[in-house]
Amino acid sequence: MAISTEDRGIISSWRKTGVITEVDGQKLINVSPHGVIIVMCGDADRALEMLDFLKLKINTRRFHLRAEDGGPLRYHPSVPIPPKLRMDKQLLAGLHGSRGLKKIPTLILMAHWPCGMAAQIKLGIRDTVWYTIQLVQILSDLGWDKKRIIPMLHVDYSTRMRTYFIEAKSPGQIYQ
Ligand SMILES: [Zn+2]
Repeated sequence: MAISTEDRGIISSWRKTGVITEVDGQKLINVSPHGVIIVMCGDADRALEMLDFLKLKINTRRFHLRAEDGGPLRYHPSVPIPPKLRMDKQLLAGLHGSRGLKKIPTLILMAHWPCGMAAQIKLGIRDTVWYTIQLVQILSDLGWDKKRIIPMLHVDYSTRMRTYFIEAKSPGQIYQ
């Protein structure tokens, strides 16, 4: 699935307005001294690129993977996942289990675009990013330290791949 011209434009404007920013490797290193739990899409064509990028940026070999189709979208109680695939409660509980089991308090929420699961449930890139930001708050309300949750966006531009921090805090910034 190739990225559309419209979506390229949205991402380009987000970069100008600071909705997404270049990844600060030192920030990632600072928040992940014990490794990192990664919530990501298990996409066969993109997963290794996401991990290779993080491996370059984070000086750890402790990657605890939670890779369901759709990544962070699967953990959000309001994302319209088909009923037979829905397991947000179990995934959220499992996430807390991973934290306790592996003593890793740091979490990367890796959204990606284009994403087959997002397409299947007819979500656009704006919804995908906004749901990912909302998930930060949902996890914070469940007791996760917000400073240890890093929302990110991996973009497949067809000829190159880029990964960004998601910095937006409000829907107004996303749906401008
Ligand atoms: Zn995906």
